[in-house]
Amino acid sequence: MDNEWHIRKEMIEIGKRVYDKGFVAATDGNLSHRLSGDRVLITPSGFCLGEMQPTDLAVVNMTGRLLTAPHQPTSELPLHLTAYRNRPDINAVVHAHPPTANAFSFAGESLEQCVIPEVVVGFGTIPTTAYATPSSDEGAQVIAELIRDHDGLILQRHGTVTVGGCLRDAYFKLEKIEHAAHITLLARLLGKVIPLSDNELRRLGQVSERMGWGSAEGIYQACKVNPPSNG
Ligand SMILES: [Zn+2]
Repeated sequence: MDNEWHIRKEMIEIGKRVYDKGFVAATDGNLSHRLSGDRVLITPSGFCLGEMQPTDLAVVNMTGRLLTAPHQPTSELPLHLTAYRNRPDINAVVHAHPPTANAFSFAGESLEQCVIPEVVVGFGTIPTTAYATPSSDEGAQVIAELIRDHDGLILQRHGTVTVGGCLRDAYFKLEKIEHAAHITLLARLLGKVIPLSDNELRRLGQVSERMGWGSAEGIYQACKVNPPSNG
């Protein structure tokens, strides 16, 4: 059984963090959490994430039908439901507009290179989706395949979507994407971005597996590097 009130309070707290960090402006961005019985708790349309109350949140079913709410759910509801349908292992989705990560997408630049070790271990890579009009069904379709293999995506010319076991987990992934984008931008200003070499990625894969952070194979596949020949 969910502790729904606890989850509602956590959503308010994480919403404040997203807003206070400048990862959204005004009424942009939205959060959701899977509840028992095929239900989803989600932020309402037209609210600032920094100014919500636990009772403002909406509950919908997995077809998007409103079950209980004083307000309509976010217009990005199809994006959230698509993430849950494709990822039975996750419980939370955060959608935001972090400026630096967004700037890469608006410049037509990718964050998919394997550059920062903790990002490679945490995410593999951070792909960018095809362009879709925000809040459209198309916006949900462009994440459907990529979200199966990635916990964080850049939505082209729009923002990010991150998923996790809880809202804090999905929020931290948003923070890490924006941090990675910021570091990459600074590195570019200083000169050029040098990706991790194949050998460095192989050693990272071995350490990741030994430390229990994630499978080495996942890193080799994400960064398109052959496994070590000596196993
Ligand atoms: Zn958006």
